[in-house]
Amino acid sequence: MIENGKYSHGRKVAEFEAALAAYTGARFVIGVNSGTDALVLLLRAAGLRPGDEVVVPAFSFGASATSVVLAGGRPVFADIEPVGYGIDPAAVEAAAGERTRFVMPTHLFSQLADIDGVLRVARRCGLIVIEDSAEAIGMRRGGTHAGLFGTGGVLSFFPTKTLGAIGDAGAVLTGDPRIAETADALRHHGRFGATIGDFPAIATTTGLPGVNSKMDDVQAAVLLAKLDRLDGDIARRASLATRYTESLEGVTGVRKVPLPRRDSVFYVYVVEVDSRDDLAAHLSANGVQTEIYYPAPLHLQPCFAELGHREGDFPNAENACRHTLALPLYPDMSTDDVEQVCGLIRAFYQGRRA
Ligand SMILES: *Cc1c(COP(=O)(O)O)cnc(C)c1O
Repeated sequence: MIENGKYSHGRKVAEFEAALAAYTGARFVIGVNSGTDALVLLLRAAGLRPGDEVVVPAFSFGASATSVVLAGGRPVFADIEPVGYGIDPAAVEAAAGERTRFVMPTHLFSQLADIDGVLRVARRCGLIVIEDSAEAIGMRRGGTHAGLFGTGGVLSFFPTKTLGAIGDAGAVLTGDPRIAETADALRHHGRFGATIGDFPAIATTTGLPGVNSKMDDVQAAVLLAKLDRLDGDIARRASLATRYTESLEGVTGVRKVPLPRRDSVFYVYVVEVDSRDDLAAHLSANGVQTEIYYPAPLHLQPCFAELGHREGDFPNAENACRHTLALPLYPDMSTDDVEQVCGLIRAFYQGRRA
C-alpha cells in the first residue's frame, strides 16, 4: 500500500468493501472513517430532513443519538428492554408522533435488539428503520446480517470492536442503490461522477454538501487481514462467554448474566451486579480491568438537556447504567483468566456477606 502511494480511498479500501459485502451479504458497503460518520451519512443518504424525528434508545453509546443531531434531525428517546438492552418496540410505538420518520435500534453488547418487533412497529407507524449495528458484526438472524433488516446499518471498526482497525474506521451497509450512491458521494465531499456542462477533466461535481470521511487504506489492509480470522475470534469469544456464564450463574450479587443465543456475538461480556462500582474497584485493585458501558443514560446527557427529560423517565435504561459491568473478554484470553475473574467476583460478594 505504501509503495503504491495511495493512502486514502484507494484500492485496499475497495478490496475491503468487497470482502465485507461478501461477509455480511450486503449489496453495498461504503467504507468511511468511523462508525459515527457512517450513522450520520446513512441518515442523510436515507433522506432525513431537518427537524425529522428519529426514535433512539435511551441506553446506548452517545453517537446513537448525537448522529441524529449531526444529520439535522431530532432524537426522541425510548426505553430499552431489560434483557438484551435493545430498544423496546412498544416504547417506540408510544414515542412515535407526527414528525417521526425514523427508528434507529441499537444492537448492544452480544445480541440483536428485538428487530422483528421493531420492524412490525415501523411498518404500522410508517417509519424507516436504520440500525446502529456498530457493535454487531457477525450477528445474524435467519441468514440476515445486522444492519440489513431495514433500510441500512453501520459497522464500527474502532480498535476495541470485534473487528478492530489500528485507528478509526467504519462502514455503511445497505441494499438500496440510491442510498449507497448518496452515502458514497457524501463521504467524499459530495462528489458524484458527473461533468458540469462542458467543463472538462474534473469528472466530479459537488452535488451535495458532503464531508471528508474517506477510509484510510492502511486501515482497510489491516481489516482485510483480520477479516480472515474473524469467525475464529467470534467462536473463541463465544466459548469464553459460555465459561463466564456457567461460572457466574447463581453467584450471590450477580443479578443477571447473558445467556448465549443463536444470534449472539460477544463483542463484550456484560453482567448486571449489585454494588457495581465497588466490585469494579475490587477487580481493578486485583489487576482486572473492567468497563462501564454506559455510565449515564442518553436522555440525561447535557447535550440533550433541551429535551427536558428527568431521572425516572426511562427506568430500564437507568437501571442498566447503574448495574451493568463489562468483564474482560478478548480472543487471546485463557479460560484460566476467566476463572480467575470469576473467583475474584465470588470472593468479593462472600466478603461483603461475612
Ligand atoms: C462504537 C459505537 C459507535 C461509534 O463508532 P465509532 O467508530 O467509534 O465512531 C456507535 N454506536 C455504537 C452502539 C457503538 O458501540
